[in-house]
Amino acid sequence: MSTNEQLFERAQKVIPGGVNSPVRAFRAVGGTPRFIARAEGAYVVDAEGKRYVDYIGSWGPMILGHGHPAVLEAVLKAARDGFSFGAPTEREIDLAEEIIRHVPSVEQVRLVSSGTEACMSAIRLARAATGRSRLIKFEGCYHGHADALLVKAGSGLATFGHPTSAGVPAEVVQHTTVLDYNDIEQLEQAFATQGSELACVIIEPIAGNMNFVRSSVAFMKRLRELCHQHGALLIMDEVMTGFRVALGGAQSLYAQQIPGFAPDISVFGKVIGGGMPLAAFGASRRIMAQLAPLGPAYQAGTLSGNPVATACGLATLHEISRPGFHAALGARTREVMAALKSEADAAAIPLTVDSEGGLFGFFFADRLPHDYTTAVAVDKERFNRFFHAMLDGGVYLAPALYEAGFVSAAHGPAEIEHTRLAARAAFSALNA
Ligand SMILES: *Cc1c(COP(=O)(O)O)cnc(C)c1O
Repeated sequence: MSTNEQLFERAQKVIPGGVNSPVRAFRAVGGTPRFIARAEGAYVVDAEGKRYVDYIGSWGPMILGHGHPAVLEAVLKAARDGFSFGAPTEREIDLAEEIIRHVPSVEQVRLVSSGTEACMSAIRLARAATGRSRLIKFEGCYHGHADALLVKAGSGLATFGHPTSAGVPAEVVQHTTVLDYNDIEQLEQAFATQGSELACVIIEPIAGNMNFVRSSVAFMKRLRELCHQHGALLIMDEVMTGFRVALGGAQSLYAQQIPGFAPDISVFGKVIGGGMPLAAFGASRRIMAQLAPLGPAYQAGTLSGNPVATACGLATLHEISRPGFHAALGARTREVMAALKSEADAAAIPLTVDSEGGLFGFFFADRLPHDYTTAVAVDKERFNRFFHAMLDGGVYLAPALYEAGFVSAAHGPAEIEHTRLAARAAFSALNA
């Protein structure tokens, strides 16, 4: 049996940094990444046979926990019928119908293989539908790694963005404006100067890529109004929140508080694939008619709507659309947060917590953050020590304080109690 250490050494020789997606490398928290051998229910098991309560859930997809029997059965059956055909299948229609059934703002969807691809395509669609180029994104929101979206704010309001990655030419991001999340005044100023050039605004409605930050109802309402007034499309990136914070996504929660609220374009991923490479973007029939083969906006994919992935996604959506699923998941998630909070209080360590459905965030700070600056203004050293103490205690949290956490339907009282005891030990180690 190889140790995590041995595997990491071997991996680094043939894979940059030893990982196929950077956050897995534990760079933010230090130490050796755990190489996962298998998973079951609420647990992952590493190469050394150590079990962890899993609060990553593959970064969101595993909402039912690992190896749910009905999902496994559906995947095995689909695999026997063929891995990929490059021709349409009935299951793609089933999945599209299922997504549309739960998300009233969406009349048609196109299936793709990753959230990155879906966001990139949604931007192209918005530009095609409006005949405009400029887009607004918010600092701290992640929309995958397409060039135009790897941007941070320039100096001062409404300047051109700067690439956040080498290899992204400045010219490619010159149409991207980056604003502060939840800043209504700044948003109004940007629309006042750029409104007529704006194709779209893309937003994570509850941001899960700067820990966990909700956009305020007032901000979302104003954003919707401004987009309407200026003819820009509102894209809700629900790759993380879709089917996780509620069956109808975060947009269903805002619609409860803002009469008539709906985004123009929605992006999904993660949960809709149930752990397989699958994502989607959708909108009204009128907007979607811009896409090839109907319209002039080109978009395609060899493995799009893959038959095994769609089987996995459909079986997952079938399970989570049972009545009461999200209410129970939400209650479970609040219990996990309450356990962390009460143990932190007992240790006199400042901690704030928040959650919605099966998505959570906790902060070593006195108040909840409202934007990127406040989200990262926490004691990083403390987080890192807490992370490692929890890992030693058999609890696998996201290895960076910029990430949200994920609870699945497989997390039960035993896992929550395990988490509570690990947190008690971890908080007391922080005080030692
Ligand atoms: C994960 C994520 C993406 C990117 O999805 P990939 O499948 O990793 O390409 C995009 N947007 C949001 C909000 C995400 O959480």
